[in-house]
Amino acid sequence: MNYFQRFIVKPDSRINLQDSDPDYKDQHKSKKEALKIIEHNNLRLRELQELLYAEHKQSLLICLQAIDTGGKDGTINHVLSAMNPQGCRVACFKKPTSLELDHDFLWRAHRDAPAKGEVVIFNRSHYEDVLVVRIHNLVPKAIWRERYAQINAMEKYLSENKIHILKFYLHISKDEQLKRFKQRLDDPSKHWKISMADYSDREHWDEYKKAFEDMLSKCSTSYAPWFIIPANHKWFRDLAISQIIREHLEGLNMKYPPPSVDIKQIYKQYFKAKKHFS
Ligand code: ADP
Repeated sequence: MNYFQRFIVKPDSRINLQDSDPDYKDQHKSKKEALKIIEHNNLRLRELQELLYAEHKQSLLICLQAIDTGGKDGTINHVLSAMNPQGCRVACFKKPTSLELDHDFLWRAHRDAPAKGEVVIFNRSHYEDVLVVRIHNLVPKAIWRERYAQINAMEKYLSENKIHILKFYLHISKDEQLKRFKQRLDDPSKHWKISMADYSDREHWDEYKKAFEDMLSKCSTSYAPWFIIPANHKWFRDLAISQIIREHLEGLNMKYPPPSVDIKQIYKQYFKAKKHFS
Protein backbone atom coordinates (compact mmCIF):
# COMPACT_ATOMS: atom_id res chain seq x y z
CA MET A 1 0.00 0.00 0.00
CA ASN A 2 1.27 3.45 -0.90
CA TYR A 3 0.89 5.26 2.42
CA PHE A 4 2.15 8.51 0.92
CA GLN A 5 -0.94 8.75 -1.27
CA ARG A 6 -3.24 7.10 1.27
CA PHE A 7 -2.62 9.57 4.10
CA ILE A 8 -1.63 12.80 2.36
CA VAL A 9 -3.98 15.78 2.77
CA LYS A 10 -4.66 16.98 -0.75
CA PRO A 11 -4.00 20.72 -1.08
CA ASP A 12 -7.17 22.82 -0.80
CA SER A 13 -9.26 19.97 0.59
CA ARG A 14 -11.50 20.59 3.59
CA ILE A 15 -10.63 18.16 6.37
CA ASN A 16 -13.06 16.70 8.87
CA LEU A 17 -11.15 14.44 11.25
CA GLN A 18 -14.28 12.36 11.78
CA ASP A 19 -13.63 10.93 8.30
CA SER A 20 -10.24 9.50 9.37
CA ASP A 21 -10.24 6.33 11.44
CA PRO A 22 -7.57 6.52 14.20
CA ASP A 23 -7.83 2.71 14.58
CA TYR A 24 -6.95 1.99 10.95
CA LYS A 25 -4.23 -0.64 10.50
CA ASP A 26 -4.56 -1.67 6.87
CA GLN A 27 -4.32 -5.43 6.32
CA HIS A 28 -1.73 -5.87 9.06
CA LYS A 29 -2.84 -8.40 11.61
CA SER A 30 -0.34 -7.99 14.39
CA LYS A 31 2.36 -5.82 15.83
CA LYS A 32 4.81 -8.72 15.36
CA GLU A 33 4.23 -8.75 11.62
CA ALA A 34 4.52 -4.94 11.41
CA LEU A 35 7.78 -4.86 13.35
CA LYS A 36 9.54 -6.74 10.53
CA ILE A 37 8.49 -4.07 8.03
CA ILE A 38 9.41 -1.22 10.40
CA GLU A 39 12.84 -2.78 10.91
CA HIS A 40 13.32 -3.05 7.15
CA ASN A 41 12.21 0.57 6.64
CA ASN A 42 14.51 1.77 9.42
CA LEU A 43 17.56 0.06 7.91
CA ARG A 44 16.78 1.68 4.60
CA LEU A 45 16.19 5.06 6.28
CA ARG A 46 19.65 4.92 7.77
CA GLU A 47 21.20 4.30 4.32
CA LEU A 48 19.17 7.09 2.76
CA GLN A 49 20.05 9.53 5.52
CA GLU A 50 23.73 8.77 5.02
CA LEU A 51 23.31 9.50 1.34
CA LEU A 52 21.55 12.81 2.11
CA TYR A 53 24.39 13.73 4.48
CA ALA A 54 27.11 12.74 1.99
CA GLU A 55 25.46 14.50 -0.93
CA HIS A 56 25.19 17.70 1.12
CA LYS A 57 22.81 19.44 -1.29
CA GLN A 58 19.36 19.20 0.26
CA SER A 59 17.79 18.48 3.61
CA LEU A 60 14.69 17.12 5.32
CA LEU A 61 12.39 18.75 7.85
CA ILE A 62 9.87 16.53 9.63
CA CYS A 63 7.12 18.16 11.72
CA LEU A 64 5.21 16.18 14.33
CA GLN A 65 1.98 17.53 15.78
CA ALA A 66 -0.54 15.78 18.01
CA ILE A 67 -2.72 16.19 21.04
CA ASP A 68 -1.04 15.25 24.37
CA THR A 69 -0.15 11.52 24.47
CA GLY A 70 -0.57 11.44 20.67
CA GLY A 71 2.81 9.72 20.29
CA LYS A 72 5.35 12.33 19.19
CA ASP A 73 8.02 11.05 21.57
CA GLY A 74 7.32 7.43 20.63
CA THR A 75 7.61 8.21 16.92
CA ILE A 76 10.97 9.87 17.46
CA ASN A 77 12.10 6.95 19.57
CA HIS A 78 11.00 4.14 17.26
CA VAL A 79 11.39 5.52 13.78
CA LEU A 80 13.64 8.49 13.69
CA SER A 81 16.25 7.07 16.07
CA ALA A 82 17.12 4.75 13.19
CA MET A 83 19.06 7.65 11.77
CA ASN A 84 22.69 8.44 12.52
CA PRO A 85 22.82 11.21 15.17
CA GLN A 86 25.57 12.77 13.08
CA GLY A 87 23.29 14.57 10.66
CA CYS A 88 20.02 14.27 12.55
CA ARG A 89 18.63 16.53 15.28
CA VAL A 90 15.39 17.09 17.21
CA ALA A 91 14.07 20.60 17.95
CA CYS A 92 11.38 20.81 20.67
CA PHE A 93 8.90 23.67 20.58
CA LYS A 94 8.03 24.56 24.16
CA LYS A 95 6.37 27.66 25.56
CA PRO A 96 8.36 30.46 23.91
CA THR A 97 11.15 32.04 25.93
CA SER A 98 11.22 35.82 26.37
CA LEU A 99 13.84 36.02 23.63
CA GLU A 100 11.59 34.03 21.28
CA LEU A 101 8.59 36.18 22.17
CA ASP A 102 10.60 39.26 21.24
CA HIS A 103 10.77 37.94 17.66
CA ASP A 104 8.16 37.14 15.05
CA PHE A 105 6.55 33.72 15.67
CA LEU A 106 8.38 32.03 12.77
CA TRP A 107 11.82 33.12 13.94
CA ARG A 108 12.50 30.05 16.07
CA ALA A 109 11.30 27.70 13.33
CA HIS A 110 13.61 29.25 10.77
CA ARG A 111 16.48 29.25 13.26
CA ASP A 112 16.11 25.49 13.70
CA ALA A 113 15.53 24.62 10.04
CA PRO A 114 17.95 21.97 8.73
CA ALA A 115 21.27 22.79 7.15
CA LYS A 116 22.33 21.04 3.92
CA GLY A 117 22.52 17.28 4.40
CA GLU A 118 20.72 17.41 7.72
CA VAL A 119 17.47 15.86 8.97
CA VAL A 120 15.64 17.91 11.60
CA ILE A 121 12.57 16.74 13.47
CA PHE A 122 10.29 19.36 14.95
CA ASN A 123 8.68 17.90 18.10
CA ARG A 124 5.72 20.29 18.01
CA SER A 125 6.44 23.16 15.69
CA HIS A 126 5.51 26.63 14.47
CA TYR A 127 1.96 25.22 14.19
CA GLU A 128 1.59 25.67 17.96
CA ASP A 129 1.02 29.31 17.04
CA VAL A 130 -2.28 28.39 15.39
CA LEU A 131 -3.15 25.68 17.96
CA VAL A 132 -2.45 26.36 21.65
CA VAL A 133 -2.19 30.09 20.93
CA ARG A 134 -5.59 30.09 19.24
CA ILE A 135 -7.33 27.96 21.86
CA HIS A 136 -5.98 29.87 24.83
CA ASN A 137 -6.45 33.29 23.18
CA LEU A 138 -2.79 34.15 23.59
CA VAL A 139 -3.06 36.57 20.66
CA PRO A 140 -6.18 38.12 19.07
CA LYS A 141 -7.97 36.24 16.30
CA ALA A 142 -6.98 38.92 13.78
CA ILE A 143 -3.34 37.92 14.39
CA TRP A 144 -3.54 34.10 14.34
CA ARG A 145 -5.91 34.14 11.34
CA GLU A 146 -3.12 35.64 9.22
CA ARG A 147 -0.62 33.03 10.33
CA TYR A 148 -1.73 30.21 8.01
CA ALA A 149 -0.70 32.23 4.96
CA GLN A 150 2.50 33.34 6.69
CA ILE A 151 3.39 29.71 7.49
CA ASN A 152 2.73 28.66 3.89
CA ALA A 153 4.94 31.47 2.64
CA MET A 154 7.81 30.44 4.93
CA GLU A 155 7.50 26.77 4.05
CA LYS A 156 7.50 27.66 0.34
CA TYR A 157 10.66 29.68 0.84
CA LEU A 158 12.34 26.79 2.70
CA SER A 159 11.32 24.28 0.04
CA GLU A 160 12.70 26.56 -2.68
CA ASN A 161 15.95 26.34 -0.75
CA LYS A 162 15.99 22.54 -1.07
CA ILE A 163 14.51 21.77 2.32
CA HIS A 164 11.99 18.94 1.88
CA ILE A 165 9.15 19.20 4.36
CA LEU A 166 6.95 16.34 5.59
CA LYS A 167 4.39 17.04 8.30
CA PHE A 168 2.67 14.32 10.33
CA TYR A 169 -0.47 14.81 12.37
CA LEU A 170 -0.78 11.83 14.74
CA HIS A 171 -4.47 11.08 14.97
CA ILE A 172 -5.72 9.42 18.18
CA SER A 173 -9.24 9.15 19.60
CA LYS A 174 -10.45 10.74 22.84
CA ASP A 175 -10.84 7.26 24.42
CA GLU A 176 -7.31 6.33 23.45
CA GLN A 177 -5.99 9.49 25.10
CA LEU A 178 -7.72 8.58 28.36
CA LYS A 179 -6.26 5.05 28.14
CA ARG A 180 -2.78 6.51 27.69
CA PHE A 181 -3.24 8.91 30.63
CA LYS A 182 -4.12 5.89 32.79
CA GLN A 183 -1.07 3.95 31.55
CA ARG A 184 1.10 6.91 32.55
CA LEU A 185 -0.50 7.01 35.98
CA ASP A 186 0.13 3.31 36.47
CA ASP A 187 3.78 3.52 35.44
CA PRO A 188 5.97 5.46 37.92
CA SER A 189 8.68 5.86 35.27
CA LYS A 190 6.18 7.92 33.21
CA HIS A 191 5.01 10.20 36.04
CA TRP A 192 7.45 12.92 35.01
CA LYS A 193 5.48 13.30 31.78
CA ILE A 194 2.19 14.14 33.51
CA SER A 195 1.07 17.76 33.73
CA MET A 196 -2.19 19.37 34.85
CA ALA A 197 -2.41 21.07 31.47
CA ASP A 198 -2.88 17.66 29.82
CA TYR A 199 -6.13 17.14 31.70
CA SER A 200 -7.38 20.71 31.47
CA ASP A 201 -6.65 20.75 27.72
CA ARG A 202 -8.89 17.70 27.37
CA GLU A 203 -11.80 20.02 28.10
CA HIS A 204 -10.85 21.84 24.91
CA TRP A 205 -10.90 18.66 22.81
CA ASP A 206 -13.46 19.95 20.30
CA GLU A 207 -11.70 23.30 19.91
CA TYR A 208 -8.40 21.49 19.32
CA LYS A 209 -10.12 19.28 16.75
CA LYS A 210 -11.33 22.35 14.89
CA ALA A 211 -7.90 24.01 15.11
CA PHE A 212 -6.18 20.84 13.83
CA GLU A 213 -8.71 20.63 10.98
CA ASP A 214 -8.00 24.22 9.97
CA MET A 215 -4.24 23.63 10.15
CA LEU A 216 -4.55 20.52 7.94
CA SER A 217 -6.95 22.17 5.49
CA LYS A 218 -5.13 25.48 5.10
CA CYS A 219 -1.49 24.37 5.25
CA SER A 220 -1.18 21.15 3.26
CA THR A 221 0.61 22.18 0.10
CA SER A 222 2.45 20.47 -2.72
CA TYR A 223 5.74 21.71 -1.22
CA ALA A 224 4.95 20.90 2.44
CA PRO A 225 2.20 18.29 2.70
CA TRP A 226 0.42 17.18 5.86
CA PHE A 227 -0.28 13.49 6.47
CA ILE A 228 -3.02 12.31 8.82
CA ILE A 229 -1.56 9.22 10.48
CA PRO A 230 -3.90 6.79 12.27
CA ALA A 231 -2.11 6.54 15.61
CA ASN A 232 -4.26 4.54 18.06
CA HIS A 233 -2.04 1.56 17.20
CA LYS A 234 1.46 2.78 17.91
CA TRP A 235 3.01 0.13 15.69
CA PHE A 236 0.87 1.14 12.72
CA ARG A 237 1.82 4.79 13.25
CA ASP A 238 5.52 3.81 13.17
CA LEU A 239 5.01 1.66 10.10
CA ALA A 240 3.19 4.36 8.13
CA ILE A 241 5.61 7.15 9.02
CA SER A 242 8.74 5.11 8.34
CA GLN A 243 7.27 4.07 4.99
CA ILE A 244 6.33 7.64 3.95
CA ILE A 245 9.75 9.07 4.82
CA ARG A 246 11.47 6.15 3.08
CA GLU A 247 9.38 6.59 -0.08
CA HIS A 248 10.03 10.31 -0.11
CA LEU A 249 13.80 9.99 0.32
CA GLU A 250 13.95 7.22 -2.32
CA GLY A 251 12.24 9.55 -4.77
CA LEU A 252 14.98 12.15 -4.43
CA ASN A 253 17.40 10.18 -6.59
CA MET A 254 20.33 11.13 -4.41
CA LYS A 255 23.88 10.27 -5.41
CA TYR A 256 27.13 10.02 -3.50
CA PRO A 257 29.35 12.91 -4.55
CA PRO A 258 32.30 12.03 -6.80
CA PRO A 259 35.60 11.51 -4.95
CA SER A 260 37.64 14.65 -4.44
CA VAL A 261 40.85 12.67 -5.10
CA ASP A 262 42.14 10.40 -7.89
CA ILE A 263 41.24 6.94 -6.53
CA LYS A 264 43.80 5.20 -8.82
CA GLN A 265 46.53 7.35 -7.30
CA ILE A 266 45.34 6.54 -3.79
CA TYR A 267 45.41 2.78 -4.65
CA LYS A 268 49.01 3.18 -5.75
CA GLN A 269 49.85 4.90 -2.47
CA TYR A 270 48.07 2.15 -0.58
CA PHE A 271 50.01 -0.68 -2.30
CA LYS A 272 53.26 1.20 -1.75
CA ALA A 273 52.51 1.56 1.95
CA LYS A 274 51.47 -2.11 2.19
CA LYS A 275 54.71 -3.27 0.53
CA HIS A 276 56.68 -1.16 2.94
CA PHE A 277 55.10 -2.92 5.91
CA SER A 278 55.27 -6.50 4.55
P1 ADP B 1 5.53 17.85 25.23
O1 ADP B 1 4.11 17.90 25.72
O2 ADP B 1 5.67 18.20 23.78
O3 ADP B 1 6.22 16.58 25.60
P2 ADP B 1 5.98 19.90 27.18
O4 ADP B 1 5.23 19.10 28.21
O5 ADP B 1 7.20 20.64 27.61
O6 ADP B 1 6.36 19.01 25.95
O7 ADP B 1 4.94 20.91 26.52
C1 ADP B 1 5.32 21.98 25.77
C2 ADP B 1 4.21 22.98 25.93
O8 ADP B 1 4.58 24.18 25.27
C3 ADP B 1 2.90 22.52 25.32
O9 ADP B 1 1.86 22.66 26.24
C4 ADP B 1 2.72 23.46 24.14
O10 ADP B 1 1.37 23.71 23.83
C5 ADP B 1 3.44 24.69 24.64
N1 ADP B 1 3.81 25.59 23.54
C6 ADP B 1 4.51 25.31 22.44
N2 ADP B 1 4.59 26.38 21.61
C7 ADP B 1 3.89 27.36 22.22
C8 ADP B 1 3.56 28.70 21.87
N3 ADP B 1 3.98 29.23 20.72
N4 ADP B 1 2.83 29.43 22.74
C9 ADP B 1 2.40 28.89 23.90
N5 ADP B 1 2.66 27.63 24.30
C10 ADP B 1 3.39 26.86 23.46
